Order: sequence, then C-alpha cells, then structure tokens
Amino acid sequence: MINIAIIGSGPSGCYIADMLSKKVADAQVDIFDRLPTPFGLVRAGVAPDHQGTKNIVRQFERTFSRDNVRFVGNVNIGDDITYQELKDHYDVIAVTIGALQDRDLGIDGEDLNGVYGSGAFVAWYNGHPDHADLNPKLDSSGIAIIGNGNVALDISRILAKTDAEMGSSDITADSVAAIAESPVQDIYLIGRRGPVEASFTNAELSEFAELDRCVALVDSAQLPAALPEDFDPKAAKAIEKNLETLRGYAENATDSKPVRLHIMFCASPTAILGEHGTVTGLRLEKNQITDGRATGTGETFDLNVQTVISAIGYRSQSIEGMPFDEERGIVSNEDGRVEDGVYTSGWCKRGPQGVIPANRADSMGVAKQIIADLEENMPAGDKAGFNKIAALLDERNVRTVAFSDWQTINEAEVSRAQGDKPREKFNRIPEMLALLD
Ligand SMILES: Cc1cc2nc3c(=O)[nH]c(=O)nc-3n(C[C@H](O)[C@H](O)[C@H](O)COP(=O)(O)OP(=O)(O)OC[C@H]3O[C@@H](n4cnc5c(N)ncnc54)[C@H](O)[C@@H]3O)c2cc1C
Repeated sequence: MINIAIIGSGPSGCYIADMLSKKVADAQVDIFDRLPTPFGLVRAGVAPDHQGTKNIVRQFERTFSRDNVRFVGNVNIGDDITYQELKDHYDVIAVTIGALQDRDLGIDGEDLNGVYGSGAFVAWYNGHPDHADLNPKLDSSGIAIIGNGNVALDISRILAKTDAEMGSSDITADSVAAIAESPVQDIYLIGRRGPVEASFTNAELSEFAELDRCVALVDSAQLPAALPEDFDPKAAKAIEKNLETLRGYAENATDSKPVRLHIMFCASPTAILGEHGTVTGLRLEKNQITDGRATGTGETFDLNVQTVISAIGYRSQSIEGMPFDEERGIVSNEDGRVEDGVYTSGWCKRGPQGVIPANRADSMGVAKQIIADLEENMPAGDKAGFNKIAALLDERNVRTVAFSDWQTINEAEVSRAQGDKPREKFNRIPEMLALLD
C-alpha cells in the first residue's frame, strides 16, 4: 500500500486528496488537521454571509466519504506528531497548511489595545478556536481597515451590516451581538495605492450599494476619468467595472444612512496613535502612484478611529524540521517540491493569494507531479502509515477526530442554529470534543 499523508484539510489538501485517492493504485490517503473541523478557510475565512461559496464543501465531503480517504482531525503536525515521524511512516507527504498568521504593519502603536490583524478578526467572527476569546474592542465610533483586497471588504461589510442582514449567515452569536452593540459610525477602508491597483473584485465592492444602515462614499477626485489607452485590455474590464461602482458611491449623500463607509485610496498608515494603551487615532501619509507603485508625499493626516484592523496579508506557520522560507513566510519549494517525497500546494506554497479555484489548479498540478514521481520510483509500500501514527497519538493521549465525528459536530451545530442561520458554530475545541464522548 502507498501511504499518503496530507497536512491540512483546506481546499488545497482536499483537491490533492481527491486526485491521489482516485489515481494512485492501492493508495491510502490520510488528511490531518490541527482542528477537529475540516475545510480550512472555507469554514474559517470565507465570509459568513457568503454561504453560496461554502457549498464547495459538498464536493469535499464526497472525497472524505471514499474508503481510502481518512480524516484525522485535532492533530497538530509539529506538535502532536513531528514532521520527521510523518516522513518516517508515509511514502508521500503533501503540505497544505495554508497561511493565516497576520503580517505586521511595522509602525508605531501596533501593540495598542484596539489593533487587530484580519486573520485574527476574521477567525473570531467565523468561530475559529484560535481566536474565540479575541473580544475585539468595538466600542468605537471610528474603525479603520487597512488593505484593498476582498478580505478588507469582507470585514467592512460584516461591521456595516445589521444583525438582521446577518440573519442567514453562520457568524457566531457572540460576534454578531458584539457588532450590533458597536456604536460605529465611520468605517474607513484604506488602500495605499489607487482604485486602478485595488485588488478587490466588483462582486464584493458592489455589495455596499444595498446595505440597510451603511452608505459607501468615495471622493470623486480619487477616481480617474478613464484608464490610459494602452492599458492591458484584459485587466481593464474588471477595473472599469470597479470604477463605475465607485463613481456611483461618489454620488451618495454623506448623511443618507447612519453608518458611512469611506473608501480611501493612496494613503499608507505611518503610526497608530494612542493614549493609556488604547487606540485614539490613525496617522496616514498621502501617496502618489507612479507606474502602479505608491510613494509617500510627506503629507500626513489623522483619522479619528479607536479600532484598527490590518488586512495586508498573511504568512504560513512553520513546522519544526520542515524547510521554510522565513522571508516569504511560505513552505520552501520549487514548483511544489519541498524535498524527497514531500510536496506542497495552496496558500502555504504560493503565499496568501488566490480564491478557492486557484488552489484546485495548483493542487491538480502538484498531484500530477506526485503521480509522475511515483511512477518513476515506486516505493516498496512497506511503511506503516496510520497504524504507527495512531499508536503514537494514543500514547500521547490525543483524541483524534474522524470524519464521522466531524459529522456529529456538524449535526449539533446545525440543530442548535436559531432562525435562518444554517449553523451555530462551536468555537472551542473542548466543546466539540465533549460532543463525541
Ligand atoms: C477572510 C478570507 C475570505 C475569503 N473569501 C473567499 C471567497 O469568498 N471565495 C474564495 O474562493 N476564496 C476566498 N478566500 C480564499 C480561500 O479561503 C483560500 O484560497 C483557500 O482557503 C486556501 O486553501 P488552503 O487549503 O491552501 O489553506 P486553508 O484553507 O487555510 O487550509 C489550511 C488547513 O491546514 C490546517 N493546518 C495548518 N497548520 C496545520 C498543522 N500544523 N497541522 C495540521 N493541520 C494544519 C488548518 O487548520 C487548515 O484547515 C478567502 C480567504 C480569506 C482569508
């Protein structure tokens, strides 16, 4: 038997598992995850009010239902089981651990109360156990969100929506209550470059046109009248659409709704201001854009905000013994190869870019590579695989979570949901494990 271990049950891991479990003869595919819940950021990243996107898990469920695929949840590789132990007992390893460690802004005031990375903030409202106790400071009239991608828009929208608008989402009950209690009036979405360079997509941007209590605003002076004639026509279509939406927002009346989303371009944070250890403002420097690059003009201005959330990208968390590129914050690899018998795919391979389908393409490529390598150099098939790992986990008193256990957790989440919510997530591991005893 060819024993294959996959570390991480997000989309990248699921896509690799799907292909290898079908195409490698006599393969056993074990997917480890540090959480008792599968599906990575589909559960813990994708916005709770974007339930349609989360439907992809139906496809992944079919993979887990195969006889030669095993989910081994609640096992942290690098902690419960070492990387070396996995290499000793498996023929092939695919590392698909994603990237959700927040990058620092690298400015003064980052340690003040009221400053959060988007990884932590998103994880909090999505019920990820790592940040169940974040208790973010939301007693703020002004909240700044730094970043110009879809994650920054997701956070802005979740803060801007009423609890009724979140009624059919799977946001945690604690988070929706904390957001409903927030006296926020001004949300600032800050991009260091211009609207042409922004990486958010129109589907996300245009959602602000129809919110109950929040009006989107933008200064028309920040919007170009037209794109340069020599602009890449492929990119131009999407940007034109964004500009059209933004021009509509520039026409909105400032006081038409109680909460304002100020979409601001060409500004970089230079300091988070504070008193008594708590955020009192954000200092920004205006930028000029040359050939798509932002450079500071030296002119600064302050925003009256009491909460700052940075959405400027993520790093992977290294695992002891695994080759890791500290500078880029990814698993070291060459086209997905890490070292003999070890491969990587997804956000921990490429960095935190790309939507779910991008990981499918990436994982298919890496799976093909694995299959080609196996054909060239077929292992003896004498490694112990999960038999040995299960014994080690037993010795270490680790309560593993099988896919059927996850189904029990899933059913409990679904059955305790109120109103139109599809589920009420458990956001603490002991709560989940208690359901299984
Ligand atoms: C806020 C946010 C919103 C997004 N919204 C969308 C969207 O609307 N549509 C869309 O298509 N894409 C969206 N994305 C992108 C999408 O989530 C990613 O493309 C995708 O999840 C990356 O997949 P992955 O498998 O590489 O990583 P992940 O999904 O992060 O999966 C990694 C898995 O590895 C596990 N793991 C990590 N370390 C270990 C370890 N040491 N041992 C065992 N397991 C480990 C983690 O628990 C996790 O389950 C969003 C991302 C974010 C952050």
